[in-house]
Amino acid sequence: MPTYEYECKACGHRFEKSHSITAEAIKVCPKCHKRKVVRLISSGSGIIFKGSGFYATDYRKGAPASCPSAGSKSSCSSCPGSAK
Ligand SMILES: [Zn+2]
Repeated sequence: MPTYEYECKACGHRFEKSHSITAEAIKVCPKCHKRKVVRLISSGSGIIFKGSGFYATDYRKGAPASCPSAGSKSSCSSCPGSAK
């Protein structure tokens, strides 16, 4: 069960809460009871979303590191692995 970090924008209170990923996020501050709580992206939980990183990693499986177009979206005719 992942641990989420929350911060109350009303009073600045920060706290951690473990709950299921499908459970609803905490919205009410346990300290001041205002609905100003936002969920922070915690580096310790491993729940980090990397925008285009997934695509780049996937692409490089088929092209050698020496390929000048490795990591870009354009196809390289000299690399047999990158031809689609
Ligand atoms: Zn608060």
